[in-house]
Amino acid sequence: MDALRSTFRDAVTSFGPSFMHALAAKSCPLSFILKDAVDHGLGIECASYGECEAALAAGCEPCKIVFDSPAKTHAELAWSLEKGLTINADNLDEVDRLAQLIAARPTLNRSTIGLRVNPIVEGGEIDMFAVSTPTSKFGHPLHTAASRQAAVDAFVKHSFLNAVHAHVGSAGTSMEMLAEGAAKLSQFADEVDEACGGARVTTIDIGGGLPANAESDETSPTWGEYAAALRAAAPALFAGGRLVVTEFGRSMVTKAGLVVAQVEYAKEPAPAAGEAPLRTAVCQVGADVLMRACYNPGHYQHRISVYDAGGMEVQGRRTVVHNIAGPLCFAGDYVRKGVVLPALLAGDLVVVRDCGSNTLSLFSRHCSRLAPPVWAHWREGGRVRVRRAKGGERVENVLRFWGGGRAPPSAGGGGRTCLVVVDVQPEYWSGLSDGGEMKRDFPLFEENTAALLRACRARGLEIAWVRADYRRERSPWLPQFSALNPEKGGETGGRGPPEWEPFAAPRPGEAVVRKHSWGVGGTRLVELLKGRGVEEVLVCGLITSVCVQQTAFGLFEAGFRTALVEDACADRGRRRHDAALELYAGYMYRAVKVEDVIKGEALS
Ligand SMILES: *Cc1c(COP(=O)(O)O)cnc(C)c1O
Repeated sequence: MDALRSTFRDAVTSFGPSFMHALAAKSCPLSFILKDAVDHGLGIECASYGECEAALAAGCEPCKIVFDSPAKTHAELAWSLEKGLTINADNLDEVDRLAQLIAARPTLNRSTIGLRVNPIVEGGEIDMFAVSTPTSKFGHPLHTAASRQAAVDAFVKHSFLNAVHAHVGSAGTSMEMLAEGAAKLSQFADEVDEACGGARVTTIDIGGGLPANAESDETSPTWGEYAAALRAAAPALFAGGRLVVTEFGRSMVTKAGLVVAQVEYAKEPAPAAGEAPLRTAVCQVGADVLMRACYNPGHYQHRISVYDAGGMEVQGRRTVVHNIAGPLCFAGDYVRKGVVLPALLAGDLVVVRDCGSNTLSLFSRHCSRLAPPVWAHWREGGRVRVRRAKGGERVENVLRFWGGGRAPPSAGGGGRTCLVVVDVQPEYWSGLSDGGEMKRDFPLFEENTAALLRACRARGLEIAWVRADYRRERSPWLPQFSALNPEKGGETGGRGPPEWEPFAAPRPGEAVVRKHSWGVGGTRLVELLKGRGVEEVLVCGLITSVCVQQTAFGLFEAGFRTALVEDACADRGRRRHDAALELYAGYMYRAVKVEDVIKGEALS
């Protein structure tokens, strides 16, 4: 996150206020990254309708969404005009479609609309990504006088056209080529203005395409270097007369991401006579995630480093030539071949660098692999913080993708475990006026609850927080309860944001479920847990014989394997706590201890 954010900030400061950087979503459409880009003032460049919706969902202003697909349908064009997106027409036929749509909607023309031209810049190194030939599938080529005139004429004819766009190429395009393309685009914009008799072109979109280096952690070229090359080739872009849009993808996110793959098996058959030994490490990541590295190995050689199962540097092993293989059932599935590494073992971790862009965004369905989870990490207050930004995919999603039904409940090797924390909130602990008995009888409650949370988070378990929110209008049992227990207040949960105890508070991504009664009835808890593939629950919290008990019953009745973590619960007195466990432990749930969870023994 720190690498990503410094890139966003550097891009903004290196180019100055007349630039608007739109992150190319196709390089990495993860929603937390799009949101972060939007928070830093960037726009989002979109290659499809789906990416436009993702950009809107990330909170991007419509005018900062740049819709660039070469195959926009009538419906997509109509939709993007309604939304007020910035649209770059790929060709003159698309301009005609836009003209019809706009003519039918005279009151609706908030969009910036550009024409993508191909300024023809020679020299791209990778054919697959070269777009600067007259026969390229992208843009209107400016390769002949007639073709150039046709583009200028379109601006003269259609007053809604007010932008020009070019994307010279992705990967294999040098900084100088990009700057040359931008300069040619700027000249073309001047030509259009002249033909239209005034300042028609308000926006120049110079595209993306800045390469990202793969040989070290240093970033090269930097934003500063590219800005300097651009300033030299096309000074007019910095004059402030027009808004300049960029659409970088790879150079923004590549260096901010890496892939960690576990070795499942390592094999090294005895070499044939005269052959050198070769060890093959079969990993849990291959052409499903590292599509380009596996299908096009000539162009993508990622740096690889290896760690043992505990994440430490591998030490004291002989080195041998390795092929790093992926998990797919096709013979081309190699992340890298012929690398000399310490002899890898099952459980080791293979780390592949520079995977922030064009990696997960090309995730492949071949062999129906489940897409991996994504973790974000950043420095804060001298520590490294880690948060799961996106969960791993569930098998249900794969079945749905192939048009099938739900997976059987036992699919995927046993389902997930969730810690359900019940009512650990000031009303029942730190804020209790008559809580002396609880604190006396359960002196380790705070410590044990904190240890349990740490253990569950370290194991990557789901955590769900259930909170009492009892109000007269929603909790019909309250009047009766107050009559029976006049000394207890009953109503809880003010209207403000919920308060938590310092030893037990949810982290982002952990579900918080409000309830208006003692158990799970009427809440979304069961549905939420099922949706997350949970099959086993650990229940803890306050008060053992009341809400903890009711919650455990409800989860048991809904079919979850249920365990109650008894030393991370507390009650109004030891006697009530013990009595509840004596009646129900081993009958409707298992009773386990925090220590069992830490050792992994509580989990079935
Ligand atoms: C792919 C693409 C980009 C981003 O390219 P990078 O090489 O990732 O910077 C920008 N604009 C358009 C039109 C694209 O197709």
